[in-house]
Amino acid sequence: MRVLSVVGNRPQFVKSAPLSVALREREIDEALLHTGQHYDRELSQVFFEELGLPEPRYSLDLHTADPDAMVPGILEALERERPACTLVYGDTNSTLAGALASVDAGVPVAHVEAGLRSGDLSMPEERNRIEVDRLAALLLCPDERSRATLARERVPGRAEVVGDVMADATMQLAPIARGRSRLLAELELAPGTYAVATVHREANVQPERLRRLADGLSRINEPVVFSAHPRTASALERNGIALGAHVLQLEPLGYLDFAALASQARVVVTDSGGLQKEAYWYGVPCVTLRDTTEWVDTVELGANRLVGDDPELIAAAVAAARMPSNLPRLYGDGQASGRVAEALCTLFGP
Ligand code: UDP
Repeated sequence: MRVLSVVGNRPQFVKSAPLSVALREREIDEALLHTGQHYDRELSQVFFEELGLPEPRYSLDLHTADPDAMVPGILEALERERPACTLVYGDTNSTLAGALASVDAGVPVAHVEAGLRSGDLSMPEERNRIEVDRLAALLLCPDERSRATLARERVPGRAEVVGDVMADATMQLAPIARGRSRLLAELELAPGTYAVATVHREANVQPERLRRLADGLSRINEPVVFSAHPRTASALERNGIALGAHVLQLEPLGYLDFAALASQARVVVTDSGGLQKEAYWYGVPCVTLRDTTEWVDTVELGANRLVGDDPELIAAAVAAARMPSNLPRLYGDGQASGRVAEALCTLFGP
């Protein structure tokens, strides 16, 4: 059996790494297609090297987030490979393009991370989630809440709860990362004494909002290691937005250095989707620079707080952030990839 995996962004490289291994273990031939939506070395190549991802069979190298530009190249790959299904991950424009091309080509779509909703339709990611779920034949949900959402929306495909493939990556790689990474020593940081921050959502790099977020980070009363996405770094520079002296701005880090850094932080401050979950799995409290989240359970359990862009609230929430005790396991047991591969064999296998 053959599948076409469509990836294009940093979180998708992370999600596809454990799944590639599980597919190989079941002798499923995976043709990997990289749209080139993320193309900076720190956002792309470094993940292929560190996570042992197979070389893409197709590199569209497009340097764009426009799904219409991606569809023709994906169609060509589908024509050549004639896979049993197309695997798409998460909620980016590469996810949407993969699903649209696949439906055009008459190839069924399997959506990894199906059924998530933040309720905020102003976010392109939320619109992508809804559209891709409608197009998918197989919906691979991280938890029961997502499956219930799909049932409520009467989404036609078959939904299965498999857990979260990102948990697989976190559980397998974070211990290795902490052993291998020298980053904390290089930055002269002791575990549990600093905050880690990331910002990259489109709405958060608009000048007024970014200025308030930068103000919030600057008011935090402890060292902040800020991994700045290229679009955030350029928006800061373009708009002359300064950060406090205790905010250490770095280029995006490779997965292993970042896992070592985030898993030993006192608190995570982010607008990332994936990092909210990773913080939970690491046992590190999270402060989320958004008004909504698709990872609702982390908030309901008191491990994550939504603070939007209010500078005072950001600083106060960071100061008060503590991980509650006796938290349940969320989003799977680190074995999701094997279940995804099983589900693919069952539904699309010979
Ligand atoms: N990440 C990384 N280096 C960094 C910042 C984040 O490897 O400097 C990882 C992080 O651990 C997570 C993924 O990138 O696995 C999250 O990607 P991102 O925040 O870009 O996307 P989102 O999850 O919001 O879609």
